Amino acid sequence: MPGFELFGSKERKEVQDVLDSGVLMRYGFDGMRNGHWKANELEAALAKRMQTQHVHLVSSGTAALTVALASAGVGAGDEVIMPTFTFVASFESILVLGAVPILVDIDDTLTLDPFAVEKAIGPKTKVIMPVHMCGSMANLMALKDICDRHGLLLLEDACQAIGGSYHGKPLGSYGDLGCFSFDYVKTITCGEGGAIITNNETYYENAHQYSDHGHDHIGNDRGAEQHPFLGYNFRISELNAAVGLAQLSRLDEFLSIQKRNYIILREALSQIPEVTFRRVPEGGEENYSFLSFFLPTEEMAQKVHKALGTKGVDACFYWYNNNWHYYKKWEHLTQLQSLGNLPQEVKNVLPDYSQSDFSTSDHWMGRTISCLIKLSWSEKEMEERASKMVSTIQDTLFN
Ligand SMILES: *Cc1c(COP(=O)(O)O)cnc(C)c1O
Repeated sequence: MPGFELFGSKERKEVQDVLDSGVLMRYGFDGMRNGHWKANELEAALAKRMQTQHVHLVSSGTAALTVALASAGVGAGDEVIMPTFTFVASFESILVLGAVPILVDIDDTLTLDPFAVEKAIGPKTKVIMPVHMCGSMANLMALKDICDRHGLLLLEDACQAIGGSYHGKPLGSYGDLGCFSFDYVKTITCGEGGAIITNNETYYENAHQYSDHGHDHIGNDRGAEQHPFLGYNFRISELNAAVGLAQLSRLDEFLSIQKRNYIILREALSQIPEVTFRRVPEGGEENYSFLSFFLPTEEMAQKVHKALGTKGVDACFYWYNNNWHYYKKWEHLTQLQSLGNLPQEVKNVLPDYSQSDFSTSDHWMGRTISCLIKLSWSEKEMEERASKMVSTIQDTLFN
């Protein structure tokens, strides 16, 4: 997945443009910038690639989620449905607005289970936030149908799945809003950065104003701009946007390398009858940043994961025991360990997650191993890795 593996002359050239002018900020300083507007250019390029009308860049993927929610009017006491398997950024982006994260089970897609989602809807629910973990997507058609019937918004967290698609649409562009991260370990990176995409003009207008202290961005005198509502600072810098511009131009090249490596590994592991694969919803195409597979039992998955590590097969994740990506280890959320006082709206209604039953999620995650697909692995290295994995898994299963 990580775009940093292939960092080169294109990235250097874009950054040099910014260094040469010295204008590190995305707004203003028109006379000094030698015509360089890297954030604007990246937004236009991303809009084209994602087939959406509006794109707004921000300082991180987490910021993108927060700004997306804020731009749609989500605030204190509103409930947002999110999966048990995701990065902690999901609930952070909700809690920071005083909104309430409602955790819901995943299914064999390793993303939100539409049946569980429908059961979790209440009078305060505003948004359904599927997270396209490890390069593949949620059943967006089913989720959109639920949103339409209940008057809810669909916000896609596509931070780990840029370049994947669903029924011909780029992931992130199917819902009302979509978010990407360009942090250092994502498929394309700009160091730190994120983006919100939408076809809704109001959300877009809200997003660029909210993420820049409420600036309305009208005219060319920043100091004289109006502030129609309260905002914050989630701006991206020109230096980061410059790197992102170079990396986005290489996205399709990265995706084809990932796909080649993914197929080699998948074909090899398919020889093992005990290994089954994560389900990709009909009409979906992954971005091939990970290959995720199931072992028959939790015990076997743990043994296989351990054996892979012992044999030196790196970059394989057993998320079930992971501190950052699965609800079981989110004690800071379940125990509400916040530095300061949390809003009453959150304290009043946040479910007691230490008592929740997410056995369906446990059933899938306990058996899942995900292998990162690196861009720097050659075909030959991938083949060697694949055969080593096959023999390690077979040895573990039959010993
Ligand atoms: C990385 C990631 C984020 C947050 O992105 P940052 O840019 O690191 O803030 C959010 N959601 C998912 C699924 C991610 O993988």
